[in-house]
Order: sequence, then structure tokens, then C-alpha cells
Amino acid sequence: MQYDETLIRNVVAQVLAEVGPMPSGNGAAQQAASAGGRNGVFYDAESAVTAARAAFEQLRERTLADRKRIIDVIRRISIEQCEELGTMEMEETQIGRLEHKIEKLKTLGEQTPGVEFLETRAFSGDYGLAVIDRAPFGVIGAITPVTHSLPTITGNAVSMIAGGNTVVVNPHPSGKKVAAEGVRRFNEAIAAEIGIDNLICVIAEPTLESAEALFKHRSVALICVTGGPAVGRAALNSGKRAIVAGPGNPPVVVDETADLDLAARSIITGGAYDNNLLCIAEKEVFVVDSVFDAMMDAMRRAGAVQLNAAQIAELTSKAIVTVGDDQHDAACKDYIGKDASFLAAAAGVSVPPETELVFGETDEHHPFVSVEQMMPFLPFVRARDVDHAIAMAKHYEHGFRHTAIIHSRNVRNMTKMGRELDTTLYVKNGPCMASLGLGGEGYLSFSIAGPTGEGVTTPTTFTRERRCSMIGELRVV
Ligand code: NAD
Repeated sequence: MQYDETLIRNVVAQVLAEVGPMPSGNGAAQQAASAGGRNGVFYDAESAVTAARAAFEQLRERTLADRKRIIDVIRRISIEQCEELGTMEMEETQIGRLEHKIEKLKTLGEQTPGVEFLETRAFSGDYGLAVIDRAPFGVIGAITPVTHSLPTITGNAVSMIAGGNTVVVNPHPSGKKVAAEGVRRFNEAIAAEIGIDNLICVIAEPTLESAEALFKHRSVALICVTGGPAVGRAALNSGKRAIVAGPGNPPVVVDETADLDLAARSIITGGAYDNNLLCIAEKEVFVVDSVFDAMMDAMRRAGAVQLNAAQIAELTSKAIVTVGDDQHDAACKDYIGKDASFLAAAAGVSVPPETELVFGETDEHHPFVSVEQMMPFLPFVRARDVDHAIAMAKHYEHGFRHTAIIHSRNVRNMTKMGRELDTTLYVKNGPCMASLGLGGEGYLSFSIAGPTGEGVTTPTTFTRERRCSMIGELRVV
């Protein structure tokens, strides 16, 4: 599809101009209380939370069937408009690959779990009946990353509304336009079909201060953050219950029993997806020495381009920077999510633009091993044996307990690595995304809560348990 950037910019500017900035003081509260027509786009946390609370009060009067209809609207837009919205996201963020931006929206629309995930439990006995249901929290404050701005909002909105909640999103500033436009479209269509506006609210000019205001707001019952270490820490310090979908640095182990061609195809599929922006994506590979050279051959056969030591050094000098008081290594923003051909050019090599992944041999101390690089360059490190490979994988996963991957036919090795790394997602013999139901069993979410333990988030994640007890009656058996 041909994309007209000016047109999209104008549309977003027009939307923001139409809804206009919120007035301050009492006017803000009044307008938020009757914030119908804003389609979820707000300029400050107070107004957004007030509108989301009003929407929650309306939603709680509705049926589960209505929740399903609302979610179906989000699904429909996410699927039918994936090309336009995915292109908008690509143009705004300038990271990743267009086809994957589009595919992510479509897949989230199709596969995020809905109200069917909410389970009721019952205890029936001599004393009567107890029914345990999943109840909403109310208004949820969500923080979303630049790596998947609208996709994360889409998945969060489906899960959170399925659970009966409404949500206010403080998006990453570099993905705020597509966030506002996506949210506007969702709300406009939901209001037309169901008659409730502002079920999903977004802060159109997000800042750290607006995030802080969301964290502290008395009407925000729960926080869900998806991002790196800083936002995770901020959420956990907020004094509220927080669901933290934090960073990862997923290692891959390849042992001597692996199907090397399958391993190579899987590593390219996962590691190159959206130019390595997925938090679950393969980031560094530890291969046992006896099959190391054969694995490098398999990678080349599968279409990845190998860089030599001098080329890797050249790329590293540009793509890795030192930051902070302790001068630690970090990925250079100008290289995050860029195409493999861009990285190759930085290394002084010309490769076809359709090249998915570049790779090369490094030692374990190389910054590309320890840094969550989010670039389609993967370092391959020789290991003496599988125990050495697993030990290095554990070390460089940094204790995030996020995602780990092994290619092996030896169940003992699989078991050992699973126990050692203790990650939320553990994939055997496939690409990382197979763990989210994309070519593997299970279900999908783009918020994987490792640090706080909820795992791949679902509607149930965003609910509270409530028990309703009938004493002495209604056990009819
Ligand atoms: P980021 O941490 O820079 O930003 C994430 C969000 O947090 C943004 O909206 C940002 O504005 C906000 N933020 C940052 N510091 C904050 C603070 N102190 N207080 C309040 N808000 C703050 O990350 P990013 O570059 O946007 O996304 C990539 C990171 O997100 C990677 O580390 C990746 O692993 C992680 N991620 C994790 C998951 C998961 O499900 N676990 C999913 C996607 C991305």
C-alpha cells in the first residue's frame, strides 16, 4: 500500500485540534465528566482518568456479550486497518520492518484472548455454595513501549476490557501519534456500536510527569507497564499493585544433537522479526564447539550474512555506546530496529536490502552479547560443551527470567537449561514467537510479565477474585 505521510500527519493534527486541549481547574473535571466525543484522546492524566472512570461505570452496567462486542470492534479495526495503522507506526517510530508492523496488529486482533478466558469456580457442599468470579479492578494505568506502540495498546485493551476494566495509556513519546490515532478509531467505532466513549484513553502528549500522575492517581486501581528496567522500577515504587512486563536478553543454546538447519531457520525467523524489536527475540547464541562451524554454515545456507571480526568491530564502534555514570554499554538509538542491510553498511559491507539478519562470531565478553541490542545482528559464541553454553546463557540473561531458547534433541539438556534459567518463556526447537502461540501452542500477548510473575498476560491477569457464598441453600444435588 502506498502511504502518504503528510495525509496521516494532517489527520492526526486534525483529530487533536478537534478535541482540543482540556481546560484546567474545575472546567477540566466538568468536561471530563461529560467527555463523550473525545474518543479517548486527552492531554492530562486527570481528565483521562476521570473519563475512563466514567466509562467504567457505564461498562459495569453492561453484559458480557457487550464486552465481547466491544472487543470485536477493536479486533475488526486492528485487522481491517492493519496496513494503514502499521504504516503509520513505521513512519512515526522509524524502527522495525513494515510488514511486521502490519502483521503484529493483524495477529493481535485475531489472537488476543477475550472474555472466554474468564473462568468461574464453584465449591458445592453441605454448607451450601461458594462461587468465585473474576471481577474488574476499574481504571488501569498502562505504559507502552516504542517497539510496539499501538500493538501493545491493542492487546492490553482487549485483555483489560474483557476483564471489565477501562484503561488510560501513557504511550512512549516516540509512538504517541499512532497511539492517539489508533485509540481514537477504536473509541469512535465502539461509541457508534455500543454507545460508550473513552473505554480506552490515551495521553496525547505523554511525559514522565504524566506517567507519574497516572501512577499516583487515586482512581487508578492497577498499573501495567511494558518496557525496560526504568519504568519497571518506577511502577514497583508507585505504591500501587503493578504488573510489570520488563526487559529481556534472550539467549539461545545450540547443542551437538540439534537439527542445525531448523535451528538456523528458527533463529533467523525470531531474531530478525521486526528487526529484533521483540522482547522475546533471540539476542545471542551459544553453540557447542563440536558443531559451531557447521552451525555458521547452516546460518549462511538459511540466508543470513556473516560478518568477519573486523566488520563486527566496525559495527560495534557505531552501534554500541557507553552511557551513565558507570559508563556501561548500551545500544545506540540510531541503530535500534534498523534493517540488517543498514547494520551491514555500518560494518562496511554491502548486502541485498532484503537480507533479514547479519551475524558473526564473538567472544562472550562482547557488548552485543550482554546488551539487549534490539538489532538484527546476532553474536555467536563458542561453548566448550552444553554445560558451558547453559552457564553463559544464564549469565547473559541477566536474571531477567524473561525468555530462553534451546535447539537440541537431548531432553536432559532441555531439562537442565529450563531449570537453570528459570525463565517465563522457554522455547525448544522453534523461533521465539512460537512461545506466544504463533507456530506453537498457547495464546498471545505483547505484555509478558516476568518480574511480577503473571507471565503472558490474559484477561484474567486484569481481574480480582471475588467470592459469593450462599449458606445452607442452592446445593441442589
Ligand atoms: P523504555 O523502557 O525506554 O520505555 C517504555 C515506556 O516506559 C515508555 O512509554 C517510556 O516513556 C516509559 N518510561 C521510561 N522510563 C520511565 C519512568 N521512569 N517512569 C515512567 N515511565 C517511564 O522501553 P522501549 O524502548 O520503549 O521498549 C523496549 C523495552 O521494553 C525493552 O527493554 C523490551 O525488552 C521491553 N519490552 C518488554 C515486553 C514484555 O512483554 N516484557 C514487551 C515489549 C517490550
